Amino acid sequence: MPDTLRATFKLLFFIGLIAVEVIRFPHRMRNKRERQQKRLASERVTGAQIALDMLAFTGMEVIPLIYVLTPWFNFADYELPVWVGGLGVIALASALGLLWRAHADLGRNWSPTLEITPEHALVTRGVYRSIRHPIYTAVWLLNLAQALLLHNWIAGLAGLVLFLPVYLARVPREEQMMLEHFGEEYRSYMNRTGRLIPRLSR
Ligand code: SAH
Repeated sequence: MPDTLRATFKLLFFIGLIAVEVIRFPHRMRNKRERQQKRLASERVTGAQIALDMLAFTGMEVIPLIYVLTPWFNFADYELPVWVGGLGVIALASALGLLWRAHADLGRNWSPTLEITPEHALVTRGVYRSIRHPIYTAVWLLNLAQALLLHNWIAGLAGLVLFLPVYLARVPREEQMMLEHFGEEYRSYMNRTGRLIPRLSR
């Protein structure tokens, strides 16, 4: 693949990372503001959770940024056909669209950590109608885009590899927390939705 295309794919992924931060920014700010205003009804932040967040951040932002902005990982580059990068662009665009939509649907119930606020409402509309964790679906799509756009053993695979333990540790705890708080309402919601993709059979 010509160097200019390799550079273009790197640039597109870099722009994608900035777009992720732009989508999350207003939600982060609101969460911070409200966190100061009222005590949380239930918040589950442990040292292990912080370590997992750092792991995901390293794989999905630190390592790809080092790759895009420095030549340090270039020794681990490999060749892939151009159409693979094309698929990466589609994955990236889908990830951003879904991420934006899910944040809009979750609204003030969004939080960076696992927490239930005093006026927490169970969201079952928009993309949450058929998927329980559309934000995590978007993150997997983003990791896939990273692998398809950055043709490098370290930077391309870091997101997929480092997000996996984070995902596996977080989702059961999140669903347990939702079940404890919303009970039957969440159980029946689980029965009609899929975790990452819509359920085929009802
Ligand atoms: N797992 C979801 C949400 C991630 S944000 C997703 O991938 O889209 C994490 C917070 O969202 C958790 O603290 C939880 O309180 C909240 N949350 C998750 N699912 C929710 C739902 N259906 N309705 C309301 N809040 C939800």
